[in-house]
Amino acid sequence: MTNPITVSSATEVLELDLDKCNGYGNCVFAAPELFELDLASNLPLFLKQEWTEAEHATVAGAVADCPANALRMYKRGD
Ligand code: SF4
Repeated sequence: MTNPITVSSATEVLELDLDKCNGYGNCVFAAPELFELDLASNLPLFLKQEWTEAEHATVAGAVADCPANALRMYKRGD
């Protein structure tokens, strides 16, 4: 599996580093429209490849709630 995994909005990229992820699932609770927890691997999966600007705060909340710093959000092109 590719690592890290990235999904984007029109202006931002969300990166998930599976080597850092410990599967606590905080991101799934913070942004259930974007993540689900794969019960076989105990790792989160992205439910879609793109999110909208309206979901920025939700995605930022998932990043902030990750206790392992496995999620990173940055502007496209950075
Ligand atoms: S909150 Fe962070 S450590 Fe927990 S499952 Fe999500 S990405 Fe992994």
